[in-house]
Amino acid sequence: MSVRELVVLGTASQVPTRHRNHNGYLLRWDGHGLLFDPGEGTQRQMLRAGVAAHDLDRICVTHFHGDHSLGLAGVIQRINLDQVPHPVTAHYPASGQHFFERLRYATAYRETVRLTEAPVAEDGTLAVTDAFTLEARRLSHPVESFGYRLTEPDGRRLLPERLAAHGIKGPDAGRIQREGALGGVTLEEVSEVRHGQRFAFVMDTRLCDGVHALAEGADMLVIESTFLDADVRLAEDHGHLTAGQAAAVARDAGVRHLVLTHFSQRYSDPSEFERQARAAGFEGELSIAQDLMRVPVPKRT
Ligand SMILES: [Zn+2]
Repeated sequence: MSVRELVVLGTASQVPTRHRNHNGYLLRWDGHGLLFDPGEGTQRQMLRAGVAAHDLDRICVTHFHGDHSLGLAGVIQRINLDQVPHPVTAHYPASGQHFFERLRYATAYRETVRLTEAPVAEDGTLAVTDAFTLEARRLSHPVESFGYRLTEPDGRRLLPERLAAHGIKGPDAGRIQREGALGGVTLEEVSEVRHGQRFAFVMDTRLCDGVHALAEGADMLVIESTFLDADVRLAEDHGHLTAGQAAAVARDAGVRHLVLTHFSQRYSDPSEFERQARAAGFEGELSIAQDLMRVPVPKRT
């Protein structure tokens, strides 16, 4: 069965709090497991969330600040300790290659897993798999930062009444889907477009073209909202977003489920982020992330 869900491992910016671990997000997408921005403590949060090292086959780091990457050392060693049988690919800004190497080889351990380093130097496609295309877009932060987007290819959904009208049944339905035509009937005549789903991950950035491009048409957008709107100057100075800014992006992009996260420890009441997101006119599904929360990718329409 294909599972598509976000498992939230941590939601704090800069420093962890009693209730929030440093960042960390696992996206389960059919058989794939993508770990985004493993901050300090991610290995233990995986345990608490029921995520195994075996579940991971790709790691995506937006940038090399500690709250997004200090967990690499532990997670990489755990992948090797558990002798994960499949290869694992890591994406991260190319300018941080030295940070990645330090974290990968922070202490002694026995390497058992094929970990491919796939640094990101510019906007574009990083990988094409059976389930998605993975792209990166440059963000705007004091250190080089890239956001990520998964796009499932469009498919076709068979329409039973059209099949029946053409007298196509049983195994022939599968055949026309595979072969594109059957006995003079084309696949287009008996099916409709099934739009591929999109997931976007936007972390640590001020507003910029990349934010909008990544969010466009996303079924789920996970986006930082470090600050509340009253602190918008602070957000711009430090290369971050406010709740209202993030929600306005989601509203304009037609996002279906918005997940706000990466909260500054200066705020104690998470409901204020929700209130400001709604005040910005976002009307879709909204989650104010908490550690260990699971958020399903919205069902297809
Ligand atoms: Zn951060």
